[in-house]
Amino acid sequence: MKFKLDKKDFENFLNDLLETHDLFAPVQLTEGVSVFKKIERPEEVNLNQLVPQKSAKEVFFPQSEVMFRFEMTKHQGSIVSKHQIERERVILGARPCDVEAISIIEKVFVGEDYTDLYFFEKRKETTIITLACNQPLTTCFCSSTGGGPFRREGSDIFMIDLGDSYRLELLTQKGKAFSKKRFFKEANSKDIELAKELEEKASHKTDRSIPLEGIEKRLDLMVESPFWDRIHEKCIGCGVCTFLCPTCHCFDITDEVVNLKGQRVRNWDSCLFPIYSLETSGHNPRPTGRERTRQRLMHKFNYYPKNFGKVACVGCGRCILFCPVQFDIREAIRYASAKRTQGMEGRPR
Ligand code: SF4
Ligand code: SF4
Repeated sequence: MKFKLDKKDFENFLNDLLETHDLFAPVQLTEGVSVFKKIERPEEVNLNQLVPQKSAKEVFFPQSEVMFRFEMTKHQGSIVSKHQIERERVILGARPCDVEAISIIEKVFVGEDYTDLYFFEKRKETTIITLACNQPLTTCFCSSTGGGPFRREGSDIFMIDLGDSYRLELLTQKGKAFSKKRFFKEANSKDIELAKELEEKASHKTDRSIPLEGIEKRLDLMVESPFWDRIHEKCIGCGVCTFLCPTCHCFDITDEVVNLKGQRVRNWDSCLFPIYSLETSGHNPRPTGRERTRQRLMHKFNYYPKNFGKVACVGCGRCILFCPVQFDIREAIRYASAKRTQGMEGRPR
């Protein structure tokens, strides 16, 4: 059965969801600034901003997360509380690029012989309801990175905005478990036709021209290239691009202790900060912006593909939209391609 949800029933649907699930969705904090956060009331949900500043990765990998609390005596310590998931969760309104980014991070946190429980437990308890992008932005290049504005992979339910209603595709067992939800109705042939038209139109609106094919091998030849001297010059090292990027996943762990009671906290970190790679000896293997910018791009387009077979960029455009000095990762990729043809490769190592 093909489903739809009338927008007039949307608030009731959300109220219904809130009774059984923790619901995460984009919320507008101030004008033009949206983030994914836990919803208390349906009216908080705001699906109007195509690319919220902070992505859905935060639902699984929060910017700051208490892993556990502990107490110590002079001779021993004990854990007094651990992180726990109490209810099933739903992410509503994640865009296809953010959903792909979750799977990119998942490969890092959940491997064949290791599991990051803090990520994994949230992931397995979460149903993802994705919202297709009818009107991609000029900064979107998901179609160049292997995605697309109607990419369904990774979604449990796929939602298409038809104007007065949402067309719903229940794609997985988790998604199909919603089929008995009140307010879901049968979609008619007109709804289905309109959804197809919107998909066709959107597929021509994202940039397919970013030359990512073979980038991993090109970068292999550019480790010491003069390319890096030029490319980092604009960057002021604020780290915004890495914090807002849905695939960046570096973190630091600290123990915060007062009077023998404390908590272990995991916080996002950024390879663009000088202190990130500073060693205890005082030596810093990435002492300048040149090495740090190289690390950011190499991780996305060389190291990650070597480990997992695809680039760690989903073309969401956040790093372009929100960089204070307009560093454009698309230009960096194009420039890297052009340098190769001009014979500017650096010495491989
Ligand atoms: S947002 Fe821009 S200026 Fe800030 S670290 Fe990233 S590239 Fe550099
Ligand atoms: S590198 Fe930029 S465009 Fe790519 S996923 Fe991260 S924020 Fe989006």
